[in-house]
Amino acid sequence: MSETTELADTQEAGAPVPRPEVMAIAAYVAGESKVAGANRVIKLSSNEGAFGPPPGAIAAYAATAAEIHRYPDGGSAALRRAIGARFGLDPERIVCGTGSDELIGHIAHIYGGPGTDILMSAHGFTMYDIAGTYAGSRVVKVPEQNLTADIDAILAAVTPATTIVFLANPNNPTGSLLPQSEMVRLRAGLPRHVLLVIDAAYAEYVEDPDYDPGVALVDAGADTIMLRTFSKVFGLGGMRVGWGYAPPAVIDAINRVRGVFNVNLAAQAAAVAALAEPGWVESSVAHNREWRGKLMAALNATGIATWPSHGNFFLADFATAERAAAADAFLKSRGIIVRAMGAYALPHCLRITVGTAEECNAVAEALAAFMAHG
Ligand SMILES: *Cc1c(COP(=O)(O)O)cnc(C)c1O
Repeated sequence: MSETTELADTQEAGAPVPRPEVMAIAAYVAGESKVAGANRVIKLSSNEGAFGPPPGAIAAYAATAAEIHRYPDGGSAALRRAIGARFGLDPERIVCGTGSDELIGHIAHIYGGPGTDILMSAHGFTMYDIAGTYAGSRVVKVPEQNLTADIDAILAAVTPATTIVFLANPNNPTGSLLPQSEMVRLRAGLPRHVLLVIDAAYAEYVEDPDYDPGVALVDAGADTIMLRTFSKVFGLGGMRVGWGYAPPAVIDAINRVRGVFNVNLAAQAAAVAALAEPGWVESSVAHNREWRGKLMAALNATGIATWPSHGNFFLADFATAERAAAADAFLKSRGIIVRAMGAYALPHCLRITVGTAEECNAVAEALAAFMAHG
């Protein structure tokens, strides 16, 4: 949790005052998308897939235009059926959200709140901190080992007040992966009343055979939820569609509080079509494997260290915050936007999304020039 609890500069005397929890939150800093003076921008700051939206999703989105006076199906039934068919899951145990971010927020409020602790790993996704703090929980960031969540440390941090553990696997922004054996050990060591949230936003990119996105642990008990998103490999970040797979009681609780029409008409249609796009995930994953490797190797060759990653992004490690900031500024001067990592307590790193071949080559060339002259 951030330490700032002062009122905003814009707060006027006598005007309505937000709850103190709200003012303890540092607003989420999204990936930048514009560079002053650059006419062509390469945006590699938000882990959006490398290929734009699936063509079928564009067509499905356009086809909804004449129907947008209608409310969407509040239960996202067709989309839940399509997700269920694609991943072999019971649609009754699926809930859709306005991005998985919406679901993260509801989970924090449903199971957290004043007097409770929420655990996350030190360099976990900042939305857990924002949502947990807003809910009124104490958010505890548990130290990691080698930029990887430490299961023993998480279990040791559990108190009687702990109600939720949020864990992204693979993790954003570090790219680290926990094998299924570690996830099973985590679940087994947690009290049953603690909800384990496995955020598998990058599941499709993982090629490690000892990986499970969370389905096995959801099916094994009443205490785990898996979150997924259409914003990354499926290329629909602008549509805001995510989903959760969970035991019936958890789905029921979320359905009571989520926006009644949370996933809009066009987003539902686009997501159904994205799932049906032939070969989309396969070609995206093959591209990611090839270019993540090539770009990392190119950076390593210029003397920049990189952290192993199982997602469509990786951390480039510049050893000091000053050097990372200089590299960031150098990239920006060439119209290339990556993600600064100060908000994740990794100011010496930059997170780089794997883009197209051309974009990756542009990053490699720019950073080689930076290392040679910057
Ligand atoms: C991108 C991301 C999300 C958010 O996805 P939306 O569905 O766009 O809200 C959730 N978790 C992690 C770890 C992410 O990187």
